[in-house]
Amino acid sequence: MKILNLNEGSFPIELNIDIDKVDIPGIGCLQKTLKFEVSITKISKNLLKCDGSIKGKFIDVCQTCLKETEVDISNKINVILKDSSEINLDSSSQDQTHYQDLEYFNIDNFVEEEIALIYPDIVKCTDKCIEANQITEEKKNLPFKKIRDLID
Ligand SMILES: [Zn+2]
Repeated sequence: MKILNLNEGSFPIELNIDIDKVDIPGIGCLQKTLKFEVSITKISKNLLKCDGSIKGKFIDVCQTCLKETEVDISNKINVILKDSSEINLDSSSQDQTHYQDLEYFNIDNFVEEEIALIYPDIVKCTDKCIEANQITEEKKNLPFKKIRDLID
């Protein structure tokens, strides 16, 4: 577990993390090392900005035909970090915001939340596979979707 104190120290903080294991229920298997490269800048007290990129691939199963499918989650990271004490004070935020205790900021939790957000709601081997089967109603929450599949 990697903990950072984001209330003090010098900014920007450059992070270059290799992740070998991702512990998120309901998503595929991490194929290779996941790279998380970001720069954290301080905007004001209890408000920071995190920019960078995430690069990684998972092996999952097409939800339509059950074929083994590669899921590329490489994406840009562009997130506002706020102290969790502010979570109830925020009325509107159009930017993506991650709330956590900034004094004991757990990088692993942050990375896992980002992966969960980026990870596709529907895993499909090709676009055509999904079109052919006309899946129209999909819930955002993948783990629940998979549990439902098991029940069916
Ligand atoms: Zn398929």
